[in-house]
Amino acid sequence: MNRVTLDIGRANPNGPTLVPNLAQTADPRLNLLGLSRAQLAEALVEAGVPERQSRMRASQLWGWIYNRGITDFSLMTNVAKELRGKLAENFTLARPEIVTEQISTDGTRKWLLRLAPDADGRRHDVETVYIPEEDRGTLCVSSQVGCTLTCTFCHTGTQTLVRNLTAGEIVGQLLVARDRLGEWPEALAQNPNAPEGGRFVTNLVLMGMGEPLYNFDHVKTAMEIVADGEGLSLSKRRITLSTSGVVPEIVRAGEEIGTMLAISLHGTTDDIRNKLVPLNKKYPIAQLLDACRQYPGLSNSRRITFEYVMLKDVNDTVEDAKRLVQLLKSIPAKVNLIPFNPWPGTDYECSEWPVIERFAEILNKAGYASPVRTPRGRDIMAACGQLKSASERMRAKERTASI
Ligand code: SAH
Ligand code: SF4
Repeated sequence: MNRVTLDIGRANPNGPTLVPNLAQTADPRLNLLGLSRAQLAEALVEAGVPERQSRMRASQLWGWIYNRGITDFSLMTNVAKELRGKLAENFTLARPEIVTEQISTDGTRKWLLRLAPDADGRRHDVETVYIPEEDRGTLCVSSQVGCTLTCTFCHTGTQTLVRNLTAGEIVGQLLVARDRLGEWPEALAQNPNAPEGGRFVTNLVLMGMGEPLYNFDHVKTAMEIVADGEGLSLSKRRITLSTSGVVPEIVRAGEEIGTMLAISLHGTTDDIRNKLVPLNKKYPIAQLLDACRQYPGLSNSRRITFEYVMLKDVNDTVEDAKRLVQLLKSIPAKVNLIPFNPWPGTDYECSEWPVIERFAEILNKAGYASPVRTPRGRDIMAACGQLKSASERMRAKERTASI
């Protein structure tokens, strides 16, 4: 049988060493999810599709996969039967498996997803969170298993095991969400409560587990796929990439990935930020803000979001708020104040509510819209920075079960 393999990833030279970078499934067939259009056409040629037809066939497949959500080649009715057989023999469209789905009292949903086995047979889990709001639905996706950075207030940062997600695993999170929410055209047509515009997921944020700029290539391919107008069609203006401050990649991300940008700032002096976001020792605040100023396409309607987690007696004084205003001068910015979400074992506490309000007021007076991010899904540990715990708990349970 004609087996197709493609090199679909390499480690980011600026990132830390990761093990291993590319997931290999136990299923020897190539998973087509996450291939760019060009890679898809190439894979089809390797499977025996004549070169001159490959772009057209890739386009057909693209529509089935990303516009219709079809996972079974035999349902692709405009593809010749013989070719459908060949596709099924060589390829899969497998999504990450749902291990658990939790629904919060506020409607937030969290999925614990199990990835296909790596070359060594190990299977990793990641978490994806869907946050419905009045005017939008935001999907928070992970870019890595764990995170190599060690921000002291973040639960994900305590997870030692790390590998980059493939583009397919990143896109796969959106596909799973659409499956579960019933967002493909056929499901929507049968749903009397289908949202106007046909989308439950209107926005996507790379704010789950991992540092997206340490997985640059796969995140880039994944976002190209997500934004492709003949597929998932999510505008890049509705996608936000959040980084803890990988300075050398920020401008490049603007040029090559082109999404909205969020910066996890959290501190207004290098002393404070060094403690909260240790990467600051490598790329201090002044360098970070310089890179932000150079982010392409900024304007009043296209601002950078600065995320600021409110930590009691750490970064929440009036002086901090005033320094923040000074730092953001000359950057089209908005501030997102995030009440700290506690996790088991942390020493940090969330600032008191009046302190958060006082902080927000100083920013507002200085002209910065600074909504306080309402914690969502805390009851299911789905809020910012709480991810990891469910998979750890699952592992613990599994361990106990197997003893
Ligand atoms: N690694 C990227 C994206 C994932 S984290 C980054 O750091 O930007 C998404 C956001 O949640 C970041 O702003 C992060 O600082 C914040 N966060 C992490 N832990 C948190 C916690 N316990 N409470 C509130 N926000 C947290
Ligand atoms: Fe990693 Fe972001 Fe958590 Fe820092 S805040 S440890 S960069 S996931």
